[in-house]
Amino acid sequence: MKPKKNRVFCRACNRHKMLFESKAKADNFIKFNREEIQSCSGRAPERSYFCAFCGGWHVTSCKSAVIGSHIDERDQKIIERLDTKRNGNEEIVKGTVIINQKIGTSKVLVYFGELDQCEKTVEECLGLLETLRDKYDVFPKYFEIRGKMEKYWEEIDVIRQVSAMSQEERGQILGIENPTKEEADLQEKIQGLQLVENFNVVKNSIEKIIEDGDYENAREIIASYEKEECKMVKKSPFNVIKNEIIRRLSKLVKKNNACIEREKKIERKRRMEEEREKNGMSETAQNVEKVAKVSEDDRKTMLEILQRIESAKVALGSGETGKCEDDIEVAYFLLEQLRRKDDNYLVLNAHVSLLAEEVGKMHHGVAA
Ligand SMILES: [Zn+2]
Repeated sequence: MKPKKNRVFCRACNRHKMLFESKAKADNFIKFNREEIQSCSGRAPERSYFCAFCGGWHVTSCKSAVIGSHIDERDQKIIERLDTKRNGNEEIVKGTVIINQKIGTSKVLVYFGELDQCEKTVEECLGLLETLRDKYDVFPKYFEIRGKMEKYWEEIDVIRQVSAMSQEERGQILGIENPTKEEADLQEKIQGLQLVENFNVVKNSIEKIIEDGDYENAREIIASYEKEECKMVKKSPFNVIKNEIIRRLSKLVKKNNACIEREKKIERKRRMEEEREKNGMSETAQNVEKVAKVSEDDRKTMLEILQRIESAKVALGSGETGKCEDDIEVAYFLLEQLRRKDDNYLVLNAHVSLLAEEVGKMHHGVAA
């Protein structure tokens, strides 16, 4: 009988093998099936061993444990290699995602005149790519990504040239009717650049208008510019540029709104002051009055406390401890009513505490 149960494909042996979850189960299998297998196939399982790939126990007809340990070592090495490769793959995938993101954003910024920044980004990405290659050797996407970066590097250069061109030169290129692929590419770059240049002019004038405080006007210009100039056309190469323009417009809107808010606040404050002056009282005078009022209240309370202290002393002298205690209690209550806990408070508090102590002693004396 050839056993069919528990069979898995073992990557270490590259064929199907039986797999047991414990050494005991594998040994048991040998014990009960050895003879039958021997008579069927001429080769019987001799011993069990742990397979690191399958994470369980196989049986083998190879008697030598020395050979077995060699095989174990080999398996361990294969597993380590696979692990390194898997970790490497993860790092490479992460790295390529970062590179693609950075280049993607940078491709828009190149039209906004941030050429040096864009070149720096390409350099950073190249550095990252080469680090990955040093570490993991050339990987499948290496040449593709490198190619993309080199192409982008050239694009930065072309845009630098186009932005230095005179209007006349640009006009000539844009006027070419049946452009070659290269010329068409140049035309596209000129158009993209002009879109941004036009936006920059408008942006500057909007900023000026905001500075002048004509916020409503600024708001209208921003809205109409977005409506007229930032329409998305399906599959147009300029959509990403328009998106960035819209993002920058929204920053202007925010700035404008902040100015409007600030002006409203100033206006509110001005009106409040006006109101106060109408009532014949400046803000400072009101504050002074508030402070004076608080002190007046406290002054009255302090007088009351002093009276209570005097009365408690008299009561203490004539042995009327009950009355003395009442006075002390009221004095303590009044002390807490004081709004300002200043030196006066501390002195009065000390007096009251002293009296309380003496009354306490008297009680003690009576009890003793
Ligand atoms: Zn195995």
